[in-house]
Amino acid sequence: MPLPAFRNSRSKVRRRRSHDALKPIAIGVCKVCGADQLSHHACAKCGKYNGRQVKGGMEEVEKKLIKKAKKEKAKKVVKEEAPKAE
Ligand SMILES: [Zn+2]
Repeated sequence: MPLPAFRNSRSKVRRRRSHDALKPIAIGVCKVCGADQLSHHACAKCGKYNGRQVKGGMEEVEKKLIKKAKKEKAKKVVKEEAPKAE
């Protein structure tokens, strides 16, 4: 493997790393529900962006709940069947 001819000076390393610092995340407030919100992202709580519903409306929440209930029901059935088989 080729090796660099010279070691980088402290100054050069520090100059390079002067751009490596992390910037703080820009957190805004949702205009609709007042929750903390990442800028240029839909609100995680109400799913609105610029006052417009873009994701996670009540229908989606209901769908998720129904899916969860179905899963739990299926689990219960499996659990009830398991002892009978033994
Ligand atoms: Zn919101």
